Amino acid sequence: MSIRVIEDKCNGCALCIKACPTGAIEVNEKLATIELDKCNFCGSCVSTCRFRAITIEIEKQAKEDLSQYSGVWVFGEQWRGELAPVVFELITAGRELADARKSELSVIILGDNLARASEELSDYPVDKVILCEAPELADYDPERYSRIVSDLCRDLKPEIVLAGATTTGRSFLSRVAVQLYTGLTADCTSLKIGEDGLLHQIRPAFGGNIMAEIVCPYTRPQMATVRHKVIPMSPKSSNGRRPEIVKLDPKPQLFGSRSKILEFIEQMESTVNIVDADVIVSGGRGIQAPDNFALIEELARSLGGAVGASRAAVDAGWIPYSHQVGQTGKTVCPKLYIACGISGAVQHLAGMSSSDTIIAINKDPNAPIFQVADFGLVGDCLEIVPLLTKKVASLRGVRN
Ligand SMILES: Cc1cc2nc3c(=O)[nH]c(=O)nc-3n(C[C@H](O)[C@H](O)[C@H](O)COP(=O)(O)OP(=O)(O)OC[C@H]3O[C@@H](n4cnc5c(N)ncnc54)[C@H](O)[C@@H]3O)c2cc1C
Repeated sequence: MSIRVIEDKCNGCALCIKACPTGAIEVNEKLATIELDKCNFCGSCVSTCRFRAITIEIEKQAKEDLSQYSGVWVFGEQWRGELAPVVFELITAGRELADARKSELSVIILGDNLARASEELSDYPVDKVILCEAPELADYDPERYSRIVSDLCRDLKPEIVLAGATTTGRSFLSRVAVQLYTGLTADCTSLKIGEDGLLHQIRPAFGGNIMAEIVCPYTRPQMATVRHKVIPMSPKSSNGRRPEIVKLDPKPQLFGSRSKILEFIEQMESTVNIVDADVIVSGGRGIQAPDNFALIEELARSLGGAVGASRAAVDAGWIPYSHQVGQTGKTVCPKLYIACGISGAVQHLAGMSSSDTIIAINKDPNAPIFQVADFGLVGDCLEIVPLLTKKVASLRGVRN
């Protein structure tokens, strides 16, 4: 990539200096100069310059024939041979994208003993299952996994690569993007093929106030991580066609890694995976004190649900981060979401507004949470929550 100031066009107006976030531009004798060590090629100066005096050229794009890239790959995240639920959501998205591009959908799985995962996929509308099996791949290692997937992308040239926006997907696909010198949109909420034939990657931006539509026109593959629970799981294949199984042996020189796994510690019971819960009872700053989270836990338990929280409650140290719902926490889509003492900031709504039924309890009748709630209770949640728990327990015959 190179950036250039066109001398004939630049009049030294200095607008680009204000636009540059890295302080890389100076104007001397009515001519802008760019310090390449500081420039991150963000393009702010290019779009700010009224005289079209700055250009960014991406050398790689001009040389590479992008038409050699074809097909959609979904990363088949698995743990001990069990596929992550997000994989089946990515199959829904991947199938639509592959059909729109008239190309194939493949699921690529790295690991060891993958027979169960590959068999499970055989019922789904996937054209190919690409298996990379080796004892060295039994445990997820971002360095090793990214090197292997990058190498396969160079050889097989998929047009689009998708992974779940899980801890695994986020940590490894970003490495693949860097190694392949291509773009990656993290945390997408929807994907589509535009009229230009490109992958349009849609995700909330600026605190959820706008939906950004991002394209990657010059490099391949086009890559995105996609949030869990924003796309429905794929139905099983209706035509009885089974995917072709392709076994690939990664090059042994790609197995090196600087990290070593010493031990796996099972997730403790108290840190429930709220992403998979059908019922979530969440507490916010309106809960007022850490001890009052016991009330939230009791209601959640009586409903067989999990405990969520707003960032304010997490930042106050009342509950661990693993419970945080929202833009910088988890995206959830339970059948029932009960928000207790939560105002309904856009960043919180970004993580829960697609829940089937939302009940809000807040003492402020104008709290924004009521705009997304199906049922609203105006009042003190410290009084209402125990009453609800009692009622639910009596209806279910459960003693708390
Ligand atoms: C970049 C960024 C990312 C963010 N990510 C997240 C995120 O992932 N998740 C998230 O939640 N937030 C996130 N936030 C923070 C967000 O903007 C809000 O500050 C936060 O959600 C507020 O939490 P809250 O609703 O618990 O607290 P508040 O906004 O303080 O609201 C407390 C509510 O409780 C009500 N209340 C008070 N006492 C009672 C009572 N006794 N009974 C009933 N109601 C009562 C009040 O009327 C009020 O509506 C993010 C912010 C930024 C800038």
